Amino acid sequence: SNTFSQHLADEAQTVAMGTRLCKYIKEGAVLFLHGDLGAGKTTLSRGIVQGMGHTGKVKSPTYTLVEPYDLDDVSIYHFDLYRLGDPEELEYMGIRDYFSTNAICIIEWPEKGHGFIPNSDLDVDMAYDGQQRIITLSANSERGQIIINQLGQ
Ligand code: ADP
Ligand code: MG
Repeated sequence: SNTFSQHLADEAQTVAMGTRLCKYIKEGAVLFLHGDLGAGKTTLSRGIVQGMGHTGKVKSPTYTLVEPYDLDDVSIYHFDLYRLGDPEELEYMGIRDYFSTNAICIIEWPEKGHGFIPNSDLDVDMAYDGQQRIITLSANSERGQIIINQLGQ
């Protein structure tokens, strides 16, 4: 299968999912995070970023559009494009440089940057299930498929 799905009962389980997922994310991977406001995209990102060794806070880059994390083993760029007016603005902020490195890119609201961001390796969908959540991951490349396979083991 090229998808993996799991029920997440609370915030801690969403963070734990990110921490588990981060073990399988390799340099240069691009993750798209989909889902309504409050669905848990930033919470999952926190699990990934802290799982990779960041010890400080992980804040939502809603106003800055991107938050960089330069960690010992890897760099991560966490984007939130929700407030992006025109995707062309991404050109002015030098978006190409972000994607030309070996960094891991995690992008909330990727649809807002359509045409200016690369294809994803993994599409993550966070959905409400009452007060809880369901996460569904879909592979979009061989690199993404490897992640799905490892999660399913
Ligand atoms: P988004 O980035 O998608 O807008 P956030 O991660 O900022 O969402 O916020 C998600 C909210 O939902 C937070 O208040 C968090 O505590 C809560 N939350 C996260 N995961 C779960 C879960 N599995 N079940 C219930 N609530 C959750
Ligand atoms: Mg968010």
